[in-house]
Amino acid sequence: MSVLLFIAGGAATGLLFGTLAAKGRRAANGSSDGELEPKPSRDPVREVVSERDAEALPPGVVPPKPLGVPFAAGVDRPVWPLRTGHPRRGVVSYRGVDGKVRGSWARRLAAPRGGKNGKPRRNHAGIDLFAHPGDAVLAVADGVVTAVQSFHLGSWAVFVDHGQVVVMYGEVDRRSWSRLGVAVGSSVKAGQPIAEVACMARDENGACTSHMLHVETYAPGTTQNHRWYAGKDAPPALRDPSLLLLLAAQETSMPAVA
Ligand SMILES: [Zn+2]
Repeated sequence: MSVLLFIAGGAATGLLFGTLAAKGRRAANGSSDGELEPKPSRDPVREVVSERDAEALPPGVVPPKPLGVPFAAGVDRPVWPLRTGHPRRGVVSYRGVDGKVRGSWARRLAAPRGGKNGKPRRNHAGIDLFAHPGDAVLAVADGVVTAVQSFHLGSWAVFVDHGQVVVMYGEVDRRSWSRLGVAVGSSVKAGQPIAEVACMARDENGACTSHMLHVETYAPGTTQNHRWYAGKDAPPALRDPSLLLLLAAQETSMPAVA
């Protein structure tokens, strides 16, 4: 049994950071959409990170701030889930324990979604990684493909059971897994291409304007996505992928170019 490290954020500290960050954000981009950060969990703001995972982050990488969602953990030496030539490859968008957001504010877990055209307000249930359409999506570890489902704007999602965690590789091209010889029930190896990044929108000239890999992580056994509605506790099966992706980004095996 490994020793566990408790990161105690402290509700008051979290609220302070959240308030300061929100003020800074409004000042920076003039946003007037009035969208708010999700409320901190009613549970004590205390999350468990395995000591091994926390220690694996090199000095200088600020650990993610707990958001009331358990961290996806227990994947040994995860592989970065993309082979891409995107200039921002390897960027993990997240809020650190110091309250500052790294990467893109809108791409992080818990960023506001919905709230327009009568749609309910939600919290982003995953992290969006920079990628080009058609880029290969790679399994972060050995595992078994357990489900596929339709997802956002005509894209699809592939679920892989990696043992301690299920990863949902979202916003991938429909049936791209089939072209790669992958199906529900397939065993896959770490780093194996399992799908391709979808194009979800195009401009009037046909250029793709919406493309990324959307990564959600879940408790073992999960075979469909769960939405996280604003002001509500996160779905119990949801996991925070920040730490897993930060660890994957450290791996020298990250493919550099498509
Ligand atoms: Zn997303």
